[in-house]
Amino acid sequence: MELPAVCSARFGDNLLLCVRNHVYSHKKYSKNKITIKYIRPEKGYSSKSVRGTIYCSNQQERNAGLPSDHIGTSAKVIYAAAPAMGHNQESHPECNSRVPAILTALEKMKLTSKFRGLDVVEVQNFRPATTDDIRSVHAGPYISGLEKAMYQASEKGLIFIEGSGPTYATATTFQESLLAAGAGISLVDSVVAASKVSKDPPVAFALIRPPGHHAVPKGPMGFCVFGNIAIAARYAQRAHGLKRVFIIDFDVHHGNGTNDAFYEDPDIFFLSTHQAGSYPGTGKIDQIGSGSGEGSTLNLPLPGGSGDTAMRKVFDEVIVPCAQRFKPDIILVSAGYDAHLLDPLASFQFTTGTYYMLASSIKQLAKDLCGGRCVFFLEGGYNLTSLSNSVAETFRAFLGEWSLAAELDDPSYLHEEPLNKVKQIIEKVKHIHSF
Ligand SMILES: [Zn+2]
Repeated sequence: MELPAVCSARFGDNLLLCVRNHVYSHKKYSKNKITIKYIRPEKGYSSKSVRGTIYCSNQQERNAGLPSDHIGTSAKVIYAAAPAMGHNQESHPECNSRVPAILTALEKMKLTSKFRGLDVVEVQNFRPATTDDIRSVHAGPYISGLEKAMYQASEKGLIFIEGSGPTYATATTFQESLLAAGAGISLVDSVVAASKVSKDPPVAFALIRPPGHHAVPKGPMGFCVFGNIAIAARYAQRAHGLKRVFIIDFDVHHGNGTNDAFYEDPDIFFLSTHQAGSYPGTGKIDQIGSGSGEGSTLNLPLPGGSGDTAMRKVFDEVIVPCAQRFKPDIILVSAGYDAHLLDPLASFQFTTGTYYMLASSIKQLAKDLCGGRCVFFLEGGYNLTSLSNSVAETFRAFLGEWSLAAELDDPSYLHEEPLNKVKQIIEKVKHIHSF
């Protein structure tokens, strides 16, 4: 399948030269030093040693997972960053400053291994996903078509591969999307390995882009290239025998790609909360799965203005009973931070405190139901300040520390939530799903 280029833009000569040589470098942002990593897709990737990180060998077989003694029994958070510095369009909300903004905030708020020792571990030397990994969710012609489109992107600098989002691609998009999916897969390996030696394994967070939950099996969509979380769910089943996967998607937009990938699958429960009527317009309450997967998709479209009180109610009355009934082997989370009050793309009223509550509650849910196995995947979140503060709050929740939301949030911006409508929609979803 050829992916049409509908537009082009200029791109840096140096980066194109790197791509021609099949070598891409990006800067790892930290307060005190910059580490340059060189990625050679055919051979995995390597970088110089930095304190508090994990390095895997360039193993051919990945499904053994990271050795649990590399993680340490005290680790509370594991994360991997794939900032996709080459995948960027100027003034596009899904730009390459998102992950560096998060990493800078984590450093500034002393939430990295430099300050936390082995409580916080960064997995650095992860491999890109293979095309077989991607093929577990996406159609072969899409994957090969995107790879071919990279030549066009090299010539033109930037192309659009899908118009609804709109979703762009640059010369490095294919490789960097494989790397994003690979980060999620590696974190699945890590939490599985840790859960074999600890009843309280660390929660993992894939700080990756491009995001994934809108990408449909046949192609890209809504800023998303590959369905990172869907690929990781299939990998967890295939490589680790974790048959039952519970996916929570709290991005403000409906995760239509994940929804579609598992719509007929009874072993993967997909639960999405999203703003009713927002992009892409799917995720109606009566979309519940089909065939043998009927009932294993739960869509909860909430009215604009929904915020902290609404989400606490949804968590207690919808997410918890669904997860308890499903009995998952692992919980994966599409963590979108665009439901924040300050985010420009939607009109929910989540605060950093809401994200702390979600992270803390989901961590406990995973501990209660599936040996603590839980991986978060970065999806949306376009106001860099609210995005990075909210991810920092997520890390604090994983660490079991007090929230600093009272210092970060300004309640004077908040309006009354539409709680009557929220109650009605919760009752309706309970009725549809019989709980
Ligand atoms: Zn979103």
